[in-house]
Amino acid sequence: MTASDVDLELPAGSRDPAKARRAAVDPARPGEKCRAPAARWAPAIDRNKCEGKSDCVDVCPYSVFELGTLSDVEFDALTTLGRLKARRHERRTSRTPRAEACRACGLCVVACPEDAISLVLRP
Ligand code: SF4
Ligand code: SF4
Repeated sequence: MTASDVDLELPAGSRDPAKARRAAVDPARPGEKCRAPAARWAPAIDRNKCEGKSDCVDVCPYSVFELGTLSDVEFDALTTLGRLKARRHERRTSRTPRAEACRACGLCVVACPEDAISLVLRP
């Protein structure tokens, strides 16, 4: 962790620390700046918007995300525009296999170029 990470209260662990630092200073960054207990919040991905560009994978300090491929059922559930986009990006999409590790830093929300991620309180 560098001195500037400490200033930003940014935990180590992001795959792309420079991208994570840029996201950390975005005024639109939501969440609890990593102060939330694990599993209080989780990222929700809008499959109609996600294009599998992997910025969320790059910035998350807790390795919540990995890239995957839309199943036929998920593809069929998309809107017409979502299907057009999905065909263009070979059905790549982001998964959250470690969602319970999320600490609500909000980095993924502002890093996503498709505005596809929101943070939701878990029941
Ligand atoms: S959710 Fe956003 S940042 Fe993550 S893979 Fe999809 S488009 Fe990329
Ligand atoms: S808000 Fe959660 S899922 Fe998103 S980057 Fe931060 S820890 Fe990862």
